[in-house]
This record gives sequence, structure tokens and C-alpha cells, in this order.
Amino acid sequence: MDVEQIYKDSDALLEGHFKLSSGNHSKYYLQSAKVLEDPKTAKLLAEALAEQIKASGIKVDAVCSPALGGLIAGFALATALDVKFIFAERVDGQMSIRRGFEVQKGGKYLICEDIITTGGSALEAANQVEAAGGEVVGYAALANRGFCVRSGCNDEPKQNCKLPKHLPLFALEDFTFEMYSADNCPLCKDGSVAYKPGSRGN
Ligand code: ZN
Repeated sequence: MDVEQIYKDSDALLEGHFKLSSGNHSKYYLQSAKVLEDPKTAKLLAEALAEQIKASGIKVDAVCSPALGGLIAGFALATALDVKFIFAERVDGQMSIRRGFEVQKGGKYLICEDIITTGGSALEAANQVEAAGGEVVGYAALANRGFCVRSGCNDEPKQNCKLPKHLPLFALEDFTFEMYSADNCPLCKDGSVAYKPGSRGN
């Protein structure tokens, strides 16, 4: 499956001058919501991810996603795995599990994002599952930005990867883009201004 081509075909791999949530600048930006706006594509990607997870032999009782980014990917993955789906959301900056969701004591949870960058939100959701008595058995995402290492690759994770090394990260693709600090960005030096997608109505 050519995930990069699917992102391109969905206009979800943006090219320009972007300010990432880390504060760094980049020429590329992934807008996963655009890939997932077609439910058929979402289903296709989630089924491929589910195959990988099943092949690994780990047991999963439920998927939990951090809102908002992980919701669609997580729901599609839970459908493909035929397990329950819950989500964690931020309330006053603090990730929490609400809405009457009950974490099954000793239940095996897979944490699903759309894209894993450093894995910060995924880890916060995992901590909530564990605080409620669930067991986190791994992480999943449609794509991995190259800070963390997906299952089957032998690279060392970058220092800012927040996901625990002992748990698998399942992802369909690595998207590793060059990034620049704001004060050393060649795109800024060329005179353009970085913007954060989502902050200008897109
Ligand atoms: Zn820049």
C-alpha cells in the first residue's frame, strides 16, 4: 500500500511553509483529516493497520484515542479489529477519559493516533487508561513522523520520542521531513512567513 500516494491524492500532504506545533518550521505538513474525509479510504488504511496488529499476535480488547486528531483513525481501527473504541480528551489542558467510558480492569488497550510525532498526546491517553486499571499493549497510527520507531524497524528513536520503548508502535508509513528551528529556517530567509494550518481557517 502506497500511503504517501494516498496522502498526495487526498491533498493531505501539503507543501508550503508551515509552523509545526513544536515551533519548528517545515516545508511539508500532513493533514490526515483530509485522507480520512473519505470513509472508504479510512476503512482501507485501518484494515491494513489492523492486519499488521493481528500479525504481531498481540491481544487487543479495545482502542483508545486522544481527541481530536486520533478519533477517526481510532474508530476505523477499532471497527477493523472488531473491538470497542473509547477516547480521551483534554479538559483544561489535562487529558481525561469522560462520557461514561469505563476502562476495563486488566483490559488490553491499544492507543491510536492519526500521526505519531513525538507521541505526547498518545502517552497522556495511555496514562489515563493505566490510571483507570487498563493495560496499554501498544500504540498505532496511520503514519509515523520519524521521531519514534515503528514496529519492525531497527532505528533508534530520537531523543524527543515520548513513547515507551518496550511497547510496539504500529504504523503504515514513515514520513520524515526536514525541519528547521524558527531562527535558522531557509524558507524564512527567502522571505516567506510560516503559518500553522488550522489557524487561518484551514
Ligand atoms: Zn520558516
